Amino acid sequence: MITVEKALETILAHISALGTERVDIRSSRGRVLSEDIVSSLTIPPLDNSSMDGYAVRAADVAGAAPGHPITLTVTGDLPAGYIATRALGEGQALRIMTGAPLPEGADTVIMRENTQSQGSQVTILQAEKQGTNIRRAGEDIKKGALLFPAGTVVRPAHIGIMASIQRAMVSVYQRPRVAILSTGDELVDIDEALGPGKIISSNSYSLATLVEDAGGTAIMLGIARDTKKALRSRMLEGMHADIILSSGGVSVGDYDFVKDVLQDLGIDMKFWKVLMRPGQPLAFGVIGGKPAFGLPGNPVSAMVSFEQFVRPAMRKMSGHTKLFRPLIEAVAQEDVPGRPDRKFFVRCRLAQKEGQWHAATTGEQGSGILMSMAEASGLMIIPETVERIRAGDRVRVQVLDPELGYSETPRY
Ligand code: AMP
Ligand code: MG
Repeated sequence: MITVEKALETILAHISALGTERVDIRSSRGRVLSEDIVSSLTIPPLDNSSMDGYAVRAADVAGAAPGHPITLTVTGDLPAGYIATRALGEGQALRIMTGAPLPEGADTVIMRENTQSQGSQVTILQAEKQGTNIRRAGEDIKKGALLFPAGTVVRPAHIGIMASIQRAMVSVYQRPRVAILSTGDELVDIDEALGPGKIISSNSYSLATLVEDAGGTAIMLGIARDTKKALRSRMLEGMHADIILSSGGVSVGDYDFVKDVLQDLGIDMKFWKVLMRPGQPLAFGVIGGKPAFGLPGNPVSAMVSFEQFVRPAMRKMSGHTKLFRPLIEAVAQEDVPGRPDRKFFVRCRLAQKEGQWHAATTGEQGSGILMSMAEASGLMIIPETVERIRAGDRVRVQVLDPELGYSETPRY
């Protein structure tokens, strides 16, 4: 049996980033760039107005004030999307809209609110410093600049920038394809009759969505009966994927054949037990160059093991360097006994009061109690050496819930 730390280290040592692919920028959100993005354009391309108003020469309107208006001749009208055809002369103003490039000769924009227009004349009621209300060419992006280095995780603003510089396609790391196999004679699928002694294979659903949540593609291998033959043929199908992920059949029961079958198929087994609760039985090895995880069958154990080991592995494959969930410090709301020599992941609810996180357990921590996982926003970690957490102790909590931190009321 090995520690969680050692198990994770072993797993990650056998994982490397997948290949890359070119995708439409809109499909790149949340993915990791595998190329540097260098700007091919200057943005804005030209000095332009940041206001609706009048392009002027600052010198012409110096000293203008409500009690001392200055009148200029309006030479025309320039909407955004067009270029002025004539330079601005002395004593002249060009009516200009936000985003329109400044005419030659103009150096300042007077916002419309500080003007009065009469026919072909405009009265300026407020002087401005030279350069006011102008967005400078290149103030956002300069041609040739390195905008986003390879390794950047793409967010909507990155996509907006890539669009601005006419990058329609971008190179990113591939998404891991994860083959998901559920094992057990007791399992039926969601649309099958629940005969006596049967249960629905909920792991197929929770694991598939965890895979997608972690940025992968789930390949459903269905349910294998507890025979070596059935397991073998399904496992073989899974070997086309980037990761093989099974649940159940990895413990010491009479029908737990997952390890045997993986071994028959030639897996290089690295470990099969981890000092943790929930989720102690957990096989990991490399088969045909692909990582294979035999997760425990209990629904909570499968999910907690996924979080500790499979998610970081998938993120590494996807080119991420930040592999691990956010960790916060919270105050325990109640006593919680530890599990000697095991790292104990306690499902808990997190709440923030007066700038401090508080963690309350979701109750009964049995590894078959999936409701306690549904209610959990985090996993409190009780170290191997800690006999008991006392109410009021500070504990570390892995954050699971992406809704955490959102609020019902606006906050400023
Ligand atoms: P096992 O490790 O195969 O002995 O499974 C441990 C427990 O998890 C048993 O109670 C199984 O019925 C349950 N289990 C195994 N696989 C699944 C699954 N796919 N969905 C829900 N429960 C499962
Ligand atoms: Mg089983």
